[in-house]
Amino acid sequence: MIYGKKLLKIYKILLKEYGPQEWWPADSPFEVMLGAVLTQNTNWLNVSRAIENLKKKDLICPHKIAVVSKRKLIAAIRPSGFYNQKAAYLKGLSQYVLQRFSGDLRKMSRFETSVLRNELLAIRGLGPETVDSILLYALNQPVFVIDAYTRRIFGRHGIKIKGSDYSGWQKFFESHLPKDQGLFNEYHALIVRLAKERCRQRPDCQGCPLEGVTL
Ligand code: SF4
Repeated sequence: MIYGKKLLKIYKILLKEYGPQEWWPADSPFEVMLGAVLTQNTNWLNVSRAIENLKKKDLICPHKIAVVSKRKLIAAIRPSGFYNQKAAYLKGLSQYVLQRFSGDLRKMSRFETSVLRNELLAIRGLGPETVDSILLYALNQPVFVIDAYTRRIFGRHGIKIKGSDYSGWQKFFESHLPKDQGLFNEYHALIVRLAKERCRQRPDCQGCPLEGVTL
């Protein structure tokens, strides 16, 4: 079976097991953007605490993040850790959204994926995983997000990517799956679910939905 069919088979197995994950958990595309930055090097519980603080201070808005004092922003996002750097990253992202798109994310989402990706990657603190999460979950662009969970699960199932770099993994998925934003959205969310429930540092293979599945 070629990789495309196998990847779709795995997707169907995971969807049947876990159901739709309804990602990204946020009330607005800009909140997704903030969450994508805040989740760097921390867990989601800490991110949700930071997001709640931002909501209480009415800061889920690029204009407000751009002008709020760094001290206030840091106080709000402190639970997510690395708050000095993340405050600077959030301000940089907000300023870009304001200057380039007048803060209009619908307008932003109509731009070509490769243009947006290159521009977002040029913002300090935004690496490929963060940028692709923004593209996929905030802007509905068809990009496959790669993370440590993806590498771990598919590596354990026999996929070897030369150099094991981000773009190699992304190319593997994007070249073997239909270019479908909904599929990419759900697939990544299911990978995260599987990694948290089963495919941890020490894999819990017995009874795992992917037990015995080879690629
Ligand atoms: S826990 Fe085992 S069977 Fe499940 S995805 Fe990880 S390696 Fe595969």
